Amino acid sequence: MSQSKINRFKSRHKKNSFSLAIDREKCKGCGLCVMYCPLNCLKLSDKFNKNSTRFVEFIPGSKCCGCGRCFFICPESCIEILKEKEGK
Ligand code: SF4
Ligand code: SF4
Repeated sequence: MSQSKINRFKSRHKKNSFSLAIDREKCKGCGLCVMYCPLNCLKLSDKFNKNSTRFVEFIPGSKCCGCGRCFFICPESCIEILKEKEGK
């Protein structure tokens, strides 16, 4: 990809911020999403779900870029990426 295309991609994504909706009851605590997030937005909670599993949480204030790695890697389809306009 050319540098100009990369810059366009970056600037387009600068306008939006992202957060996640995670189905904590479906989460198996495998940690794959935590491992694959390039921006360290995710962590295993200290709390447990109804299956006595430590589920994954989005770390408040993290700068998620919406890359979708966590969405695609999750074997349980627990993660939804939410796009929020800046200033919302
Ligand atoms: S979308 Fe990308 S940056 Fe955001 S939490 Fe998932 S892996 Fe991390
Ligand atoms: S990849 Fe899915 S099942 Fe595994 S810890 Fe993350 S949200 Fe939970």
